[in-house]
Amino acid sequence: MSNPNPPTKQSFDLTDRITITTDAYDMMLLHAKQRLPFEACGALAGSLPGIQQHAGIQITAVYAIPNEAPNPNRTFAFSPDAWVNAYYRMQKNRQSLVGFFHSHPTAPPVLSQADLAGLRHSGAETCWILSLANPDSPSVCVYRQLRGQWLPSMFAQVRV
Ligand SMILES: [Zn+2]
Repeated sequence: MSNPNPPTKQSFDLTDRITITTDAYDMMLLHAKQRLPFEACGALAGSLPGIQQHAGIQITAVYAIPNEAPNPNRTFAFSPDAWVNAYYRMQKNRQSLVGFFHSHPTAPPVLSQADLAGLRHSGAETCWILSLANPDSPSVCVYRQLRGQWLPSMFAQVRV
């Protein structure tokens, strides 16, 4: 009998390590800085546990997506066309959607109520917030989804 649930969801738990390549991390930060004073946003791709056993959540690619929110200095909304295009490119590159990121130009890297509402049906496993409140020293927080809750998590940068 075939299992209707993808194996990635079943094997996901809090012991899985989150890693991001230094290139992807730097690209995400650069994009956030370039979009100031507006919020930047996009998707993160790589591999999820279950695809490579015990490898954890690995982020290797950043897909920047234009922010089409009417008030982009305080919120973000993916350009629908750019998002569909990014998702196709991910599939073509044999990558999994691993998370979303956006920046807070002046606020700390904490999920807002609007962020939580937007994430509810997103299917994302991780959510990254880059705070540029102190532009010389940006702070990055990652939250991971576990049964509908978003929990602050650790991550590690890796060089490849
Ligand atoms: Zn936010």
